[in-house]
Amino acid sequence: MFDTAKYGSDQAVIFEAGLHRALARHVSVLDANRVLVLTTPHQSDLGLELAAQLGAKAAGVFCRAAMHTPVEVTEEALAHLQDVGADTVLAAGGGSTIGLGKALALRSGVTQIALPTTYAGSECTPILGQTETGVKTTITDENLRPATVLYDPELVATLPVPLTVTSALNAMAHAVEALYAQDRNPQSTELALTGLRSFAGALPRVLEDPAGLEARLATQQAAWACGTVLGQVGMALHHKLCHTLGGSFGLPHAETHAIVLPHATAYNAAAVPDLLAPVTGIFGGADPATALWQFAKDHGAPMALRDFGLAEADLDRAADLAVQNPYWNPNEITRSGIRDLLARAWGGDAPI
Ligand code: NAD
Repeated sequence: MFDTAKYGSDQAVIFEAGLHRALARHVSVLDANRVLVLTTPHQSDLGLELAAQLGAKAAGVFCRAAMHTPVEVTEEALAHLQDVGADTVLAAGGGSTIGLGKALALRSGVTQIALPTTYAGSECTPILGQTETGVKTTITDENLRPATVLYDPELVATLPVPLTVTSALNAMAHAVEALYAQDRNPQSTELALTGLRSFAGALPRVLEDPAGLEARLATQQAAWACGTVLGQVGMALHHKLCHTLGGSFGLPHAETHAIVLPHATAYNAAAVPDLLAPVTGIFGGADPATALWQFAKDHGAPMALRDFGLAEADLDRAADLAVQNPYWNPNEITRSGIRDLLARAWGGDAPI
């Protein structure tokens, strides 16, 4: 079991199978009297089940959480929250649902409980990305980090295998970028390596038996480590590229992270080979980028951005957008280098 406090986390974090069926017990120790359950439309049945578990403490279910936290959905949810007089939100889902919980906390100060059902890691960070009129902006505020996170492997066991793989690679991307973060420290590096090692060990076991709770719990611990380090240090090229591809071209979040990761790693490994060398040690292979590319391929991850609606003609604009706002990165960002990287990720080529 991970000692979450050892890594500087002040959240209440519990890993335990069946937690979602013992919710009332966990909520009763919090000062929560009216709990609004949040889900996506796809997970509305889970929302209803959780509200039933909460009994008299349930203030209702809002099941319209959406990708990239659109402000209009948040405003609708806020009106609902105020109508029912909720003092707490229980976000049951992936990064989209947890994002809605953060957006509501920002506007109303409600307490947040997160019940993650993917590996994206938003529950561990003080970061909120939200979208208004097609533009995604990011806010960081310590008050946005959910107070309590309940990791129940039964909930992640329903994650379809393709999303299991892409979501795990999304989480691993946080850890890979943490290895070369400008503000990294020995503790963040240890946490990132813990997350990567845990995924390397547990993901193959999950794919052998997707309903197996022990391996699913290990992947949740891996996701916690990767998500926590995302909240501790700054990200660079990989996250910026995925932000551009998701925000400006509507590409799906986890799939985009899964495809771009080996290519962004190759780009940066040229500048910081020593910092990325442990990735090769963990996943095996000739170099860190090839190791991640092969791991993704072996586990059936999507490999090409062209399969997700990005047209070849979009590559120039994507490269322009990606170099528009300067940011720190271990390797120099050049327009031609980014254009080549994107072309390889678009075509599903091996990273170089
Ligand atoms: P998601 O939350 O959008 O979920 C994708 C789909 O999978 C949804 O339809 C959802 O209902 C479904 N789903 C989720 N869990 C399931 C399960 N166990 N079984 C069956 N279906 C399930 O996807 P995501 O990748 O978790 O989150 C992406 C969003 O999170 C993006 O908007 C991204 O920007 C944000 N994010 C934010 C942070 C942060 O720190 N702020 C970190 C990571 C991701």
